Amino acid sequence: MSKFSGTASFQKMLAFGVGERRGLILACLILLFVLLVATWLITNTSQQRLIEFKSQEIANVVATQARTARSVYTTSVVAKLKKEGFGARIDSADHIGSVPIPAQFLKQLAANSSVEHEDAFQFRPLSKWNLSPDQGLKDDFQVWAWEQLEQQQSNTPEGIVDWEPVWRIENVGGQNALRYMVADPAANASCVNCHNSLEQTPEIQAMRRDAGTELNKMWQLNDLMGALEVIVPVHESSALAAAQTRSGLFLVLAVAITGILLVLGISAFDGARALAVTKDLEVKARTDSLTGLPNRAGLKAKVDALLRTSTSASQHAVMLLDLNDFKRINDTLGHHIGDEVLREVAVRLQALIAPPSVFGRLGGDEFVVFLNNVNNQQVINTARAINQALDANIEVDQYRLKSNASIGISMMPGDSQNLSEALRCADVAMYCAKRAKTGYKFYHLDNDHNNLNSLSIITDFKAALDNDGLSMVYQPKFDFERGVVSGAEALLRWEHPERGMISPDRIIPMAEQSDQIMALTRWTVDTSLRQLKQWHDAGRDLKMAVNLSAQMLNADETVVMLLELLEAHDIQSHHLIIEVTETAVMHDSKKAIELLERLRSAGVGISLDDFGTGYSSLSYVNNLPINELKLDRSFSYNLSRRKNKAIVKAVIDLAANVGVELVLEGVEDAGSLALLLDSGGTQMQGYYLCKPIAGDLLTEQLDDLNAVALDWAERKYGGRNLRAA
Ligand code: C2E
Ligand code: CA
Ligand code: CA
Repeated sequence: MSKFSGTASFQKMLAFGVGERRGLILACLILLFVLLVATWLITNTSQQRLIEFKSQEIANVVATQARTARSVYTTSVVAKLKKEGFGARIDSADHIGSVPIPAQFLKQLAANSSVEHEDAFQFRPLSKWNLSPDQGLKDDFQVWAWEQLEQQQSNTPEGIVDWEPVWRIENVGGQNALRYMVADPAANASCVNCHNSLEQTPEIQAMRRDAGTELNKMWQLNDLMGALEVIVPVHESSALAAAQTRSGLFLVLAVAITGILLVLGISAFDGARALAVTKDLEVKARTDSLTGLPNRAGLKAKVDALLRTSTSASQHAVMLLDLNDFKRINDTLGHHIGDEVLREVAVRLQALIAPPSVFGRLGGDEFVVFLNNVNNQQVINTARAINQALDANIEVDQYRLKSNASIGISMMPGDSQNLSEALRCADVAMYCAKRAKTGYKFYHLDNDHNNLNSLSIITDFKAALDNDGLSMVYQPKFDFERGVVSGAEALLRWEHPERGMISPDRIIPMAEQSDQIMALTRWTVDTSLRQLKQWHDAGRDLKMAVNLSAQMLNADETVVMLLELLEAHDIQSHHLIIEVTETAVMHDSKKAIELLERLRSAGVGISLDDFGTGYSSLSYVNNLPINELKLDRSFSYNLSRRKNKAIVKAVIDLAANVGVELVLEGVEDAGSLALLLDSGGTQMQGYYLCKPIAGDLLTEQLDDLNAVALDWAERKYGGRNLRAA
């Protein structure tokens, strides 16, 4: 499931990428707009400033030149004529030897230059105190500018005024122009005197009266007598500047658009790459990397697609294959050999399963085959064909391996409606096939204790527990160092009236789930200790090993209950051994270890069962309060294999180093026994030595079994340490 949601989230990620790209485009456009406006504003104002500055400079030059010309006229023309008895006068045209006064000269200069330089500038002298009608203040700018100049004078009551020109850009005759006015003050005494005398003339007095200005004005040096106005047209420079601004903007626009296109291109490329990566991940998420087959997610996708197109009349089968000896191959020969076996299984299945049927690997040694639209006979044929194909030896490196499969079959829609339900049912059937060693088995409701129908089995179990329906069998434990049967392991049995023998591997989880485990454990320990007491009473010095489930390891009452039972049966605590599995201890290690420590200090023996299957490290074992290790029975098989032998030897050494007993279980034949003895093993259990049997039977056989123990011990140790000795 997580793989699917992983793929979905990748798609989400991709969708987010598209949204992001849209945002990016929008941001780029906004940025472009801001950039253009800012460029326009900055260029425009700076060019405008430049134009104004340059125009002012022109106006300044024109005004200065004009005053200089007048000054030259005054000092070298007027003054010379005056010296020679002539001079300047307003009506000079009517008098021989007279020239126009400087003011008239200036006016003439202005008129002539303005005509000559029409496009570049115009200037004219003017004054509020005009002496000629065309020199007065006529328009808004002139009135405003004169007032500004007057203010400059009134701000400096005495002394020389530092005149500042005033200006503004205005529309003159339909075009923009800089209008500039600078003061033309009374510059020397002769000028002042001349004007003061003029003020006294009847013509001027009449003019003053007409204009409503002050009569008999008395001029002083530096007074604002007149001003020069210069007009510099700016429309041409403005047009030039505008053209430049435009080309600047075009450049910015071109660069920005290129940038945006580039960004969009890159982001589109990224999007395409993300899509490709997503596709790739999707494929990977649905493929088993070892075999290249569909994995759980890939199978689900394929099966879902097939189911969508199937009709209500069609029947399908889901087969769950589990390789029978794969764990041992993996553990003993290493993962690379195991991997080769899995690849070979994939190849063999490939030859048998034709499309549209599909198959894949769930993980580990579990394969799934989905047979599309099949009848029961076809399913059986396929299952047999698979069994047959996997039966043939698999050759890897120098090994010839056998890894036949147990196949559980669930029919759709008969047993299940969807793939996950079908897999659960096929799993139940697969375990039945494994137990029955039949190669394949169809799912059957009766075998399914997770099914609601298993409620009946729980009810049956409670009844069995209450009414002596359960029993214990005992498997003797052999001590070949001393040549005796040193004890027995108590194992639970339940013969169901209809379902037959039910394995403790199924009873224990069921008891745990239905809160019966405490009662069941009390019953098993009580029954086993009663048996042990009988043996003790008969003079047999035996110990009893009882299995404790994971849940019991976490129950506070366990210790008290065990000690109570020991006392009730009058048995010394060191005669009881508690077997706990590595995985159960690791499950909630702190609490479990606490409980074991309490039992240990009360004298009860603690054995770590199925050692080697729980992946606990050796240092971890060292810290546990145990006095016995029970090596898992899978290590006692195939002892001819070098690796298994090495493991057994290593564990024997480990046990000796840590100072705990070591029990080897699963001894199934004489060869294994000999090899285990050879490796240094001394304590053993197994079908070859004795199967788990009823207490009475074991009582009967004890002497014979002791004889067997002695016999093997003598072969091995030649009479040393032996019981007889
Ligand atoms: P276990 O504690 O590892 O018990 C040994 C299992 O190996 C027993 O299976 C026994 O019958 C089987 N066995 C003995 N010798 C050989 C052999 O040479 N070859 C093979 N292949 N198997 C051998 P069983 O009785 O079916 O018990 C299975 C498991 O159920 C036990 O594994 C133990 O974990 C659990 N169990 C059994 N009785 C009880 C019980 O009373 N209480 C609890 N909590 N668990 C129990
Ligand atoms: Ca055990
Ligand atoms: Ca075991």
